[in-house]
Amino acid sequence: MVFSDTIIALATPPGEGAVAIVRLSGPEAATSLGRFFVGKRSCEQMVSHRLYHGRLCRPDGVLVDEILAVIMRAPHSYTGEDVVEIQCHGGLRILNSVLDLFLSNAVRLARPGEFTERAFLNGKLDLAQAEAVADIIRARSERACRVALEQLDGRLSRRIYHFADQLKELLALVEAHIDFPDDEVGVLAVEVVTASLTRLGGEMAVLAGSFEMGRALREGVSVLILGRPNVGKSSLMNALLGHSRAIVTAIPGTTRDTLEEQLVVGGFPVRLIDTAGVRITDDPIESEGVRRATEKTRIADLILLVIDGSLPLTCEDRMAMQLCSAARTLPVVNKSDLAAAFSWSELEGLGRPVGVSAITGQGLDELGDAMVAKLGGLGGGDAGEEVVLTDRRHREALVKALAALERASETISAGFPLECLALELREGLALLGQITGETTPDEILDQIFSRFCVGK
Ligand code: GDP
Repeated sequence: MVFSDTIIALATPPGEGAVAIVRLSGPEAATSLGRFFVGKRSCEQMVSHRLYHGRLCRPDGVLVDEILAVIMRAPHSYTGEDVVEIQCHGGLRILNSVLDLFLSNAVRLARPGEFTERAFLNGKLDLAQAEAVADIIRARSERACRVALEQLDGRLSRRIYHFADQLKELLALVEAHIDFPDDEVGVLAVEVVTASLTRLGGEMAVLAGSFEMGRALREGVSVLILGRPNVGKSSLMNALLGHSRAIVTAIPGTTRDTLEEQLVVGGFPVRLIDTAGVRITDDPIESEGVRRATEKTRIADLILLVIDGSLPLTCEDRMAMQLCSAARTLPVVNKSDLAAAFSWSELEGLGRPVGVSAITGQGLDELGDAMVAKLGGLGGGDAGEEVVLTDRRHREALVKALAALERASETISAGFPLECLALELREGLALLGQITGETTPDEILDQIFSRFCVGK
C-alpha cells in the first residue's frame, strides 16, 4: 500500500534525556531530511541503514541541533517505506524545534500506532505480530516479554497459519465434491472429514486453553493476602516485597484499607494486595475494610490465606477460611519460627499449606514456588514450551472458529448438503484470519492501533 503523506513523531518518551529519537516515514522522509541536514554527505549520497553525523539547520542557517541521522530506504524498513531516524539531544525545546522544522514541510504528526499500522498494511508484519509490539513495550515481567517477543517473531501466527492451511485443504476437498459429480472425484468419505475436523479442533482447543496462563502473563494476576488481624499479613507482604511499606504493628487491625504493590513471581507480574484483617468488629471503618477485603476475594486470581501457626484456630480464622474457594486459595501457615499450636489437617479442605516465617524469611522460597504452581495451573504447562495465547481478541476469534468446526462436524453427521459444510469451513477460516489480520474489520484495526503510543 502506498501512502502519499509522510509522518513524523518522537519515538522516545517525551521529557529530558541524553538522546531522543525522532522518526519519519513516508515518501518525503529522505527529502525532508535533505532540506535541513548539513554534513559531509548529502542525503542522496547516504547509504541505507548507515548512521551519519551532521547538523540540523533552519533554511536561514540557524543551528537547531547536532545530530546523528540514518535513512532506511524502502522496502527494508520497519514500515516498508523510506524511514528516517534522527538522534538529537533529549531536551524539550530541541525536540519541539526539530518537530516544528519538519512539520512545516508537508510532513504531518503521526497518529498513535501509525508506524506499526503502516508496517502491517505494507505486509511487514501480520496483525498478531503488530499487536505483539505493543505487548513488548508494556510487558511487566521478563517472561511476559519473552512470550510477546516470540509472538513478534511469528510463533503464534505460524500456529494460526498451520490451522488455516489444514482448513483450506479440507475446504478444497469439499468444494471439489460440490463442483464435480460423484463419478469424477468419488464419494466424500465422511469419516475422513470428521477425523480431520476432530484432530484440528483438538489442536485449536489446546491453544485456546493456554489463554488463562497467557492472560496472567500479559495482564498480570492479583494475589490477595487474607486472614484475621495479627496473623502477619503485612509482615508477609513486606517479606515478599523485600521492603517495608505496610505498617507492621502488634496492635490488631491497623491495616484498615487495602494496600497494593507490584512484584514478579516466577515470571508472572503480580499485584499483591494486603487487606484489612477479617474480624468481628463494631468499628464502622474497620467493617468497611473487612467488607472490601471480602469483595476482593471474589475477583482475586489467588488468595494467600494466612494463619498464625503459633495459636489455635479462632472463629475469625474460620470466617476467613469460609471466604476462600479451594481452587484459588493457597493456605500459608505463618510464624513457623514459633512452636506450632494447631494441626495443618484442619486446613485440609483448602489444599496443602506452606509453612513460613515472615520474620526469619523461612519458607518464602517454597511459598514462591507454590504460588507459581498455583498460577501456572491456570492454564497448565510452561510458557516456554508451547505457543501461548495472550490476547482476548485472539482467544475470542479462536473459540468462535472452534465452534464453526463443531457445526461443520454436525452438518456432516446430520447428512446436510456439502454446501453447509463448506460454509462453516469458510467461516472458520475467516475467523482465523481475524487473528492474523487478513479478515479483520477496519474498525477493529483502528481500535487496535489507537491503543499504541504515538511514535510506535
Ligand atoms: P497483620 O495484622 O496480619 O497484618 O499482622 P502484622 O504483619 O502486623 O504482624 C502482627 C504481629 O505478628 C507483629 O508483632 C509481627 O512482628 C508478628 N509477626 C508477623 N510474622 C511473624 C513471624 O513469622 N514470626 C513471629 N514470631 N512473629 C511474626
